[in-house]
Amino acid sequence: MLKIYILTLFPEFFESPFNVSIIKRAIDNGLIQIELINIRDFSRDKHKKVDDYPYGGGSGMVMKPEPIFEAVEYVDEKIGSKNRRVILLSPQGKVFNHSMARNLSKEANLVFICGHYEGIDERVKTLVTDEISIGDFVLTGGEIPALAIVDAVARFVPGVLGSSQSPEEESFCNGLLEYPQYTRPRVYRGLKVPEVLLSGNHKEIELFRRKEALKRTREKRPDLFQELELTDLDKKLLDLQ
Ligand code: SAM
Repeated sequence: MLKIYILTLFPEFFESPFNVSIIKRAIDNGLIQIELINIRDFSRDKHKKVDDYPYGGGSGMVMKPEPIFEAVEYVDEKIGSKNRRVILLSPQGKVFNHSMARNLSKEANLVFICGHYEGIDERVKTLVTDEISIGDFVLTGGEIPALAIVDAVARFVPGVLGSSQSPEEESFCNGLLEYPQYTRPRVYRGLKVPEVLLSGNHKEIELFRRKEALKRTREKRPDLFQELELTDLDKKLLDLQ
């Protein structure tokens, strides 16, 4: 079972997303366990203060180190400090991707630290094993990034998606964006499902899907396309030979 500890000032933020659909089922089935830890509970200040003015001046408030250190130590008392990754959500971190999700899903324990306000005291980084961003933009807090990462990681935990679905068949798995998908009806407002998908010819369907995946990756994500090692068949499908 993958155990996830989320250190946040706003545990209530996660209540609804973890209570629906695939993540809820994964929790109910004991495949993942999520503990929300309120950083404020570790404040020793009589007013439960967790932030303070930045040394050197500047706008906004900075999250104090003590409650975060003590919250991580609280988790370590349960699981030890060796058997876990401590992830700081930060716009300055490595940009999250598919293979990082797969990699994190193999861990036993993940600890997420959600920053807020102007960010966290730099010394917290001595606790951190991974600093992760979800993209080149700034959010008000680390809760949305933590949620996005937990969701992407959970999909790789065996059993979470159920037997008929595989995370390895989605976009990015083989370096390609996924082929287009259709369902009933066959014709909607004059828009037809490609004939080959109705043919029952599995070989032809496979070739169609490969070709469409290659085409859309070339069109939408030339950066990914450039990294591909095209087979002779791929080149043929793309009319490159
Ligand atoms: N002052 C910080 C800076 O310029 O790098 C930004 C702080 S941001 C307003 C507050 C918190 O939101 C951060 O500590 C981080 O936890 C989270 N955050 C904001 N944008 C993020 C992103 N793109 N990826 C991951 N976390 C992010």
